[in-house]
Amino acid sequence: MKCRKFLIKFFIIFYFLFSQSNAFEIVRDTELEQFTDDIISLLLQSNNLESEDLKIYFVKSDQVNAFVTGGQNIFINTELILTANDYREYAAVLAHELAHILGGHIFNTSIEISNLSNKALPIYLLGIIGMIAGATDAGIAGVMVGQASVSDNFSYYSRTQEASADQAAVKLLCNNGINGKFLMEFLKKIENVNESFALDENNYRSTHPLVQNRVGWINSSLENYNDCDYNTDKIFQKKFDLLKAKLHGFTHPHYETEAVYNSTDDVDLYATAVSNYFQGNHKKSIENMKRLIKKHPSNPFYNELLGEIYFANNDYESATFYHEAAINNIDKVNDLYYMIMGNYLLTFEETNKLTEAILNLKKSLLINSENAYAWYLLSRAYAQTGSISLANYATAERYFLIGERELSYEFAVKALKQIEENSPEWYRSNDLIEILQKEVSKR
Ligand SMILES: [Zn+2]
Repeated sequence: MKCRKFLIKFFIIFYFLFSQSNAFEIVRDTELEQFTDDIISLLLQSNNLESEDLKIYFVKSDQVNAFVTGGQNIFINTELILTANDYREYAAVLAHELAHILGGHIFNTSIEISNLSNKALPIYLLGIIGMIAGATDAGIAGVMVGQASVSDNFSYYSRTQEASADQAAVKLLCNNGINGKFLMEFLKKIENVNESFALDENNYRSTHPLVQNRVGWINSSLENYNDCDYNTDKIFQKKFDLLKAKLHGFTHPHYETEAVYNSTDDVDLYATAVSNYFQGNHKKSIENMKRLIKKHPSNPFYNELLGEIYFANNDYESATFYHEAAINNIDKVNDLYYMIMGNYLLTFEETNKLTEAILNLKKSLLINSENAYAWYLLSRAYAQTGSISLANYATAERYFLIGERELSYEFAVKALKQIEENSPEWYRSNDLIEILQKEVSKR
């Protein structure tokens, strides 16, 4: 890969090499986030750590990888999920990473992920087309690149920590009804992947415990748990297959998805609907999604995708109709769903729809105040309803999040001139100004 020395191997064990600074793309998607959260919550049942304490980032990448940084950030590559056949393999990877966090393991060298919470805007798996179209100002265009960068250094855990993470992973799996053998299954599978990607330098084997050793310590742990032989959870597996179908359609070439997912069962229809959508063949996607929704009307993700396709085709009524069904059927509402709804509603001219858009965007920000794109949409919504000072305030928040301190200060000052005194936005604008002034005085 030319100048990039992307290390192309897998590392359930943390092994991560980025030479210089390499950018990568963060993906956000409700189905992906919720499935992962469900597994993590299951694994953490008997621990003090809550899934909310963790930050999980999904990286769009064709390399199989997963790693932890900065204490509680877990990074998972999309291809890792696609490589797992069974959801328990994915659960095993998560368990291993969680074990590093629970064990308080520290890398031998430091690794720094920069720009994650500020300059980076994630790629939204869905909802992106309308968003790019709406992003007319230069400020937002500059941050639409869903990238974060990782600076230098090669980091790894010690062999002892790896052994202990494997053992703790087996414990997490077996104590929570998931067959721990899938950790081994996945390692073996990855070993083959690694061989085909073997690079000349910084070989995985030269710095990490051999998989055969790991198998040894995993086996000895399994013996402590009566073989840890639990049945599969069919509902989880079906959800996982659907999630993979979507990811495949999103990250692999169209012809590949069509070749792999070539029947008319749910999973295949879903994969090809996603793939055709990104391919621009919306008629086919709509056809597939209608079939799926007819069979499973309460699947939020099907409704979300169909809404998105309609939105891309400027059918805003249908877009909001299906997206509302998605919101009504999701187990846990999240910032993305409200943000997307806000975005859809912004396309209407009527005041009542704009008011609704503002309500949805506020809900989104209440759940996740660090969603810079929701702030951007909120500023547009305020501007469209003539509330310029509130639009300035929302813009100040967005600039603050993306690290544009001077612009943030400027907009907060502008907002304060007209904003209603003692309103929450008034207080927050004052706070922003204070924070930013302190920063300047520290320089
Ligand atoms: Zn590890």
